[in-house]
Amino acid sequence: MREFAFELRLCAHLERAYPVVARQLGTSVRAAGGRIVDIVCLTRGPDFDARTRLTPDAIPAAVVEADIGAGRWRRVVDAFDGPPARARDLAERGEMAGFLETERRDGHAVVRQTARYPDWVGDIVGIENKPDLGTPGDLTAQLRHDVSLCVLDYAILATESYVTRAHLNRLPPAVGVWRVDFDAAEPIEVVREPTRLDASGWGIEPGDTHPGRRDVTPVTPDEKATQRRRVAERAYGKGWRTYGLPACVNAESGTEAGVTTLPDCAYKDRLVDAAGECGPDCPGYDAADPPDVDLDAERATRQAWDPDAASARTQVGLDQWTND
Ligand code: SF4
Repeated sequence: MREFAFELRLCAHLERAYPVVARQLGTSVRAAGGRIVDIVCLTRGPDFDARTRLTPDAIPAAVVEADIGAGRWRRVVDAFDGPPARARDLAERGEMAGFLETERRDGHAVVRQTARYPDWVGDIVGIENKPDLGTPGDLTAQLRHDVSLCVLDYAILATESYVTRAHLNRLPPAVGVWRVDFDAAEPIEVVREPTRLDASGWGIEPGDTHPGRRDVTPVTPDEKATQRRRVAERAYGKGWRTYGLPACVNAESGTEAGVTTLPDCAYKDRLVDAAGECGPDCPGYDAADPPDVDLDAERATRQAWDPDAASARTQVGLDQWTND
C-alpha cells in the first residue's frame, strides 16, 4: 500500500513538470505484460498541440501505421495488413478513438483519417517507484530490462530511502535516481541524473530465466518505434487518475501538490487503493456514496489533455477536416 500512495503523490507532483503522466504501462516488445513501468511521463514533441486537438483517447499503433491518408478514402480491407476481420476490427477501433471515419461507397466499407497523425512525442521517461530500498524485490532486474531494451529515453528510480553509494553501485549506471520527501519544499532531490538511452537503435529484451542462463531477444529499431508509439498513445489515453474513490463513509478526497481528488481514508489516515482495500472485509467499512470528484475535469485543467477534442473537429469541405 505504501507504493500505491507514493505513486499517486509522485504523479501529482510530476504533472506540474510533464504534459502527460500515466501509471502502470507495459514496455516489453515480445513478452506481452512482461515489464510494467510504474510511471511514464512524456515531454512535448514538435506537434504536441495537434495531438491534443485530435482525440482524448489512445489511438492503436496499428491504426497509425496503416496506409491511410487524411484526404482519401481507401477500402478497409486494403488499408490494413492481415485478414479482413482484423482490418474491420482496426477500422472500428480507429473510428471509436476518433482518428478514423468509415462509410460505405460502391458497396464497400471505406476508411480515411480525420486528420494527419502528428509528430507529437518528445522523450518517454520511465520511473520505477521503490519507496523503501530495504525491500527492493525485482528492482535491479526491472531497471536492467529498461536499459537493455531502451524503449524509454530515460529510466529513473524514485525512493524515499536514503540512497547510499552501495545502492547506486547495484543499479545500472544509466539509471537516474530521485530521493523523494513529500514534506520538503522541493520534494524531488536528484541524487543521480539519468543518461539518455539509445531509443532509436537495436534493443535486447531480457526473457525467462533458467538455471545458469537467461533468454534474450534482439529487437529491431522498427519494433521499438512501434512500441514507443504504443506506450505514448496509451499514456495519453490513460493518464494516471485510474483509481477509484471508496464507496464508504470514511472516504475523503485527499490532496497533494494541488491535486484534490486522491482516494483518502479518515479511518486509516492515509491514501487507500479502493479496488484492493475497501469493502465489507475492512473493519472501518460503512457503505456510502463515494466522494463526488470529477477526475477527467481535474486532468483537463492540469494536463495537456482535452476530453472534448473530437467534438471540436468540424468538416469544412467534402474532403477536408480541420481542428478549431
Ligand atoms: S473501506 Fe476501509 S479503507 Fe476503504 S475507505 Fe472505508 S474505512 Fe477506509
